[in-house]
Amino acid sequence: MSSLIRPRLVAAATLLLVLGGGSLYLAAASNSTTTRTPTAKDAGRLRPPSAAGGHNLVLGANDSARPQNMEQFLTALTKDVDAYWTKTFEASGLPAPKVGFTSIPAGRTAASACGDENGAMGDEAAAYCPGDDTIYISQKFATDIYNGALDQTLPGSSQGYGRTVGDFSVAYIVAHEYGHEVQDELGLFDEYGGQVPTMAFELQADCYAGTWANSVEQENRLDDGDVQEALDAALAVGDFDTTNANHHGTPQQREAAWKDGFESGDPSSCSTYLDAASVDDATGPADPQPDPGSAPYRVAAVGARFARHAA
Ligand SMILES: [Zn+2]
Repeated sequence: MSSLIRPRLVAAATLLLVLGGGSLYLAAASNSTTTRTPTAKDAGRLRPPSAAGGHNLVLGANDSARPQNMEQFLTALTKDVDAYWTKTFEASGLPAPKVGFTSIPAGRTAASACGDENGAMGDEAAAYCPGDDTIYISQKFATDIYNGALDQTLPGSSQGYGRTVGDFSVAYIVAHEYGHEVQDELGLFDEYGGQVPTMAFELQADCYAGTWANSVEQENRLDDGDVQEALDAALAVGDFDTTNANHHGTPQQREAAWKDGFESGDPSSCSTYLDAASVDDATGPADPQPDPGSAPYRVAAVGARFARHAA
């Protein structure tokens, strides 16, 4: 439901604080000897990790280590998603993903290669930036999602599709942004160069968010209502601006993409979104994003309070 996720102490990831405040560098301790660089073909070969437990988050249990504020919650959440992808990559013979994570305190900004005209991200941030390989989540934005303050204002929810409230609504967003990091690790942005098919990448990130949620369910760490919170959030961030190059997918498409990942639990199944995009390319898709390196990959495209500066 809407209770905060409680972290347990066992952390699969080794975290190194580099910037202080809300910034982390996520670099998982690897027991894998592989040093091979992932390629786009690995997207179709990703295997789910074995459900061995040992994750560091529990949903719905009493624990003295539960996050006390949004910064701690976002950090615990990101570590959980990172631990899942570390296991997934290692189970697939790939080096663990490495990504920066910055949670931006309310009223503050963080410098980013994907920032606004001042090179900064602020209270509206929920993005992955390929240019500096960092996930940015605004604590204010996450709090507004958690509390339901943005419930009716997102592209889909403003038109009656879905809603955003509760811990797993926030979890969907964080896992979606990490999905873009997975794409970056796999070289998918490079594969498409300046021709990144936006909607396909967004739906694939939703699918990846769903496979992570599947792993959480496998470990019995979901509360009643969490799945619905994620489905509602996916509907809420969908948009109908289908002629816009930054169209991310309709509410129904985004809900279906998350569900695909959640029901299959198999990240390799998410590669079909890019396969479909290749077919569409031949018949003329929406205009691609111009510069993947400095384009922020956000959870919603247009109409959203937090995305307006990028529109
Ligand atoms: Zn996105």
